[in-house]
Amino acid sequence: MKAARLENGVLQIKELPTPKLDYEDALIRMTSAGVCHSDLHIVRGDWAGLPSNMPLGHEGIGIVEALGPGADRYVAVGDRVILGLGGTGGGFWCGACEYCMRGEPRHCAQTKGIMGTFSQEFRVWAKSLVKLPADLGDEEAPLACGGLTAYGAVKKLLKHQILPGRAIAVIGAAGGLGHYAVQIASAFGYNVVGVDVGEERLSFVKSLGAHTVLGAEDAVAAAQEFGGVDASLAENTRLAGFDLGLQMLRRGGLFVAVGIPASSEGNLQLNPWEFFRRDPTLIYSAVGTVQDMRELVDLAAAGRVKTHVGRTATLAELGDVFDDLESGRYVGRAVITDFNV
Ligand SMILES: [Zn+2]
Ligand SMILES: [Zn+2]
Repeated sequence: MKAARLENGVLQIKELPTPKLDYEDALIRMTSAGVCHSDLHIVRGDWAGLPSNMPLGHEGIGIVEALGPGADRYVAVGDRVILGLGGTGGGFWCGACEYCMRGEPRHCAQTKGIMGTFSQEFRVWAKSLVKLPADLGDEEAPLACGGLTAYGAVKKLLKHQILPGRAIAVIGAAGGLGHYAVQIASAFGYNVVGVDVGEERLSFVKSLGAHTVLGAEDAVAAAQEFGGVDASLAENTRLAGFDLGLQMLRRGGLFVAVGIPASSEGNLQLNPWEFFRRDPTLIYSAVGTVQDMRELVDLAAAGRVKTHVGRTATLAELGDVFDDLESGRYVGRAVITDFNV
């Protein structure tokens, strides 16, 4: 089978043997795979501490082709499924530890991520699969990480008692994560302030249902004028976006960090006096659980969330897609739709 791998830090398309199935494994014939900003960070070596040899891709839709022992309790051959949960937690979780029991399997000591969906066939733990309704197309593959990450972040607003109707900012609102967050937060009933750069991106954000759109350059002053937002979702891969999200908060507001800027961008800065004065709550939100994925699929099936596909490509064109993503040549997400070339 053909598959994309990072070999000594270089992207390669290789011919590899079909994976062998273990207990509760399913073999998926991939029909589409989303390109996440994380994949670009991995290929460019942006994140310190990651291996330079690894499979690539962690969002996908496909058909169950074969089952290992015990997997038939969760899916059947021929089922069309979405697989993902990001790079953390989609491959395995123990189900019995403190973190698993409270719905945070990504912190489980036995957790395994999903990596390797840029591949004709992919082996995955059947418990993490979610079946798809027939009317949800293959272009929705990026729901698996991008959509789920945005969904998990919006759900945390409720956990922190920020109720529908309140003003929340989405920083990077036209991006791969942000465009989902705008739709999901609007579907939940929040008053969404979408922040991005440039006329074209802002009108795209408006079309997604944002109540207000602001250019990044005016966002802090505009937010101060109406007293600040209750929460900021920094759906952004640049540290400047994180700073902006913090600056837009009202006193006692919630800052939700999503995405990971390159290590070379340095640290998030917070002046202790400002911390005292403004008293923000700072949390991180990474992907979500398989239950979140089921809820998101329902929301997408109801037409409330849709992936904006700005680019499609074959497996062989993956390197070009990374170049295009890096230079912002498309909005929304890219999807690999053909794995045979
Ligand atoms: Zn566990
Ligand atoms: Zn991702």
